[in-house]
Amino acid sequence: MHSIRSALLQAQAQLNSSPRLETVDARFESQLLLQHLLNAGRAWLIAHENDSLEDGMQARFEALVNRRVNGEPIAYILGSREFYGLNLTVTPATLIPRPDTEILVDTALAKILAGQHTQILDLGTGTGAIALAIAQQRPQAQVTGVDASRPALDVAISNSRQLHLANVHFTLSDWFNDLGNARFDVIVSNPPYIEETDAHLQQGDLRFEPLSALASGADGLDDIRRIIDGCLIHLKPQGWLMFEHGYNQAETVRELMAQTGLVNIETVRDFGGNDRVTIGKNPLIVSTHWD
Ligand code: GLN
Repeated sequence: MHSIRSALLQAQAQLNSSPRLETVDARFESQLLLQHLLNAGRAWLIAHENDSLEDGMQARFEALVNRRVNGEPIAYILGSREFYGLNLTVTPATLIPRPDTEILVDTALAKILAGQHTQILDLGTGTGAIALAIAQQRPQAQVTGVDASRPALDVAISNSRQLHLANVHFTLSDWFNDLGNARFDVIVSNPPYIEETDAHLQQGDLRFEPLSALASGADGLDDIRRIIDGCLIHLKPQGWLMFEHGYNQAETVRELMAQTGLVNIETVRDFGGNDRVTIGKNPLIVSTHWD
């Protein structure tokens, strides 16, 4: 029979020697996997490291460790990931929320005045991360999250129920296609933006994530072009479009936004100092349509 300590040490050694994992915090991840299995916190685990782990539990732990050794993302094994202080369910049908995407949430919140009844749209919502974070921070806002993937949308809906957020709803739509002529004060998105031949798609967590959430044509900009092309029909006067993009796409994105007629275009950097989010505003003061 193993002690918790020896089970963790063995797992740590296996993770460290896995050729499928380039960088891994083996000690931390071993603890996370065992905490998940035992439904225990980190403090409990450390306080009980001399306790013995029954054989059945040891076998189940080894199975989880093996999945990680084979490169499966820790978020898919645990079935959850924290984003903007929210604990979200994630499945292989969804992209795993990244810390850098919290910058998009901050950028959106800066344009969504608290206490106002604004309409917000999140395109390609996946787990619902961005939509849910905004809905929680701005209870007066009405947030719509759309995705073209039914399985992803089901994850977003289940997350909104778990978080008891009533000011957000999710609906199936391929970008703007199924939104009729609805208009929004702020449109946000973390679209796929990786070049389809980029070697990173064959590395790390990306190998296991949905390709449709990551790659977007030869230059990575196919979906970004669709979003920019459709945005003016769906932005209220003075409304903002903002989305995440690749570190080397900011200049092209700014040009595309300017060509479409957006103004006050700016790029925001991520935690690593890379260009990551670009924003632009609908210059109209009053709507030219009756809506
Ligand atoms: N930033 C992510 C990555 O490079 C990609 C996310 C996306 O395509 N929207 O891992």
